[in-house]
Order: sequence, then C-alpha cells, then structure tokens
Amino acid sequence: MAARRFGLFVMAEEQRIRDRIDTGPRFSEADAVRLNRLFHGNDTHEMLNSLLKDGLAGDVAVVSSFGAESAVLLHLVSQIDPSIPVLFLETGKHFPETLAYRDLLRERLGLTDLRSLTPDPELLKAKDESGLRWNYDPDGCCDIRKVQPLAKELAGFDASITGRKGFQASTRVNLPRFEIDSSVAQGRLKINPLIDWSPEVIAAYVVQHDLPQHPLVALGYPSIGCSPCTSKVAEGEDPRAGRWRGWDKTECGIHMPGGPEDGDLPPEFDPVF
Ligand code: SF4
Repeated sequence: MAARRFGLFVMAEEQRIRDRIDTGPRFSEADAVRLNRLFHGNDTHEMLNSLLKDGLAGDVAVVSSFGAESAVLLHLVSQIDPSIPVLFLETGKHFPETLAYRDLLRERLGLTDLRSLTPDPELLKAKDESGLRWNYDPDGCCDIRKVQPLAKELAGFDASITGRKGFQASTRVNLPRFEIDSSVAQGRLKINPLIDWSPEVIAAYVVQHDLPQHPLVALGYPSIGCSPCTSKVAEGEDPRAGRWRGWDKTECGIHMPGGPEDGDLPPEFDPVF
C-alpha cells in the first residue's frame, strides 16, 4: 500500500511539473525543489531516464568539453537518447587529440546531434585577430571563444546538463542535482547528474562500459582544456594545476555571474571546461 501511495505521489508530482512546463517556458526555484524531491533516492540512470523520456525538463542540451571524464555523462545520456543535443565549444585552440576524441565518442556513442560552437568571426577579427589573446588576456579570450558562443546557443534551451561533480571543488560539494540558473530571467534549469559520483565510481563506470579515455590523460593531463592554456600536472599536484598555469585564473568564466552578453549564463555554471 505504501508503495502504491508513493507511486501515486510521484505521478501527481510529475503531472504538476508537466503542467508547469506546458504553461510556462522555463522553471522556477520551486520546480527545482520539486524535481530534487521527486528524484531523491533514484540512481542517476533512473533519474535521467525519467527526465529525458518524459520531457520533464523541456528542451535539454548536454554541455561537454570532451575532456578527461566526459565519456561517462555522454554514455549515460546516449543510452537513453542519442539525439539529445551535445554542445562542444570549438574554440579553435583545442589539442588535435581532443578533436579526435570528440569524433571518436560521437561515433562510438552514436551521438546524432553534436554541435561544435565556434566564436563569432566578426568578434574574433575585432578582438583577437592575431589569435594570441590567450597570451595576454585569457579572460577576454575565454569570453570570445567560450562564454559568448555558449550563451547564444543555450538561449534556445530550457535546461542544460553539466558534468560537475562534488569532489572537484569545495564549492560544489553541496550542489543539488537540480538548480535554477538565477542569472537567466526565464529560469533555465541546470542539471548535475554526476554531482554525487566519486572518482572511484567514475573509474568503475569507465571500465564497466569499456569507454575510451582521452589520449592525453595517460600523458599526464588529468584536466584538459585549450592547448595554449593546458600543461602537464606533476604527481601530487592538484588535477587542475595545469590549467592557465602562471595565471590567477582557474575557470574559463562560463560559470561566473554577470557574464557577458546580458549575463545569460548562470552563476557557478561550469560544464567542466
Ligand atoms: S582556455 Fe585559453 S585558448 Fe581557450 S578560450 Fe580560454 S584563454 Fe582562450
């Protein structure tokens, strides 16, 4: 009887959320709370399966860097729906290995809607004609090549799926699975399916599903971004120590509040670039 009551409760909750989606384009804080409650105790695959198959999050995109751990999230999503749009920021500065890995995963996982987002050519010409802005203004370079193209593309979606994990940083430890991007007036939903995954669970998943690894991981790059801004990491160093080495910069800026282009990206947004 208790199970039946719970089942009815879940159906009612799902209906309420559907009603909300049908009548409003985006989400509220209350919707995020309801979704966290609805999927409390569900494992990641169950949660994603319900979410994507029942359309509870509206139009959803996965944001992926095709970096060191990206295969896990992409595999989870592709098992449910390989046609979910996957957004990749093609900055023009990636390692050739990353581009090859992107193509390998697209093929291997059967991703049918991989979108490589490129910077606005006019903006590049005006602000980084030499292609060397990373060398004297990495924030400005990330803005042109990552932040703005992603903001533009995400404007067409109700929700984004990130690969953030709690163990990556103290600021992420208590993040919920569902959040609202408060910097977007329409209330875009942000989904963190791997937020409670440990490094061991991720490693086990990779082995269990025989997922290919980014080739640079074995060469000493545990965190991989654009080639000019990524260096090898010595044993015992923080995994992200090789990112923007020598600069007071640890993130590309797409998670920062009040970003460019009308602040259309959420605070703390970071799809692990
Ligand atoms: S990571 Fe480096 S090269 Fe890539 S967009 Fe940012 S500053 Fe530019």
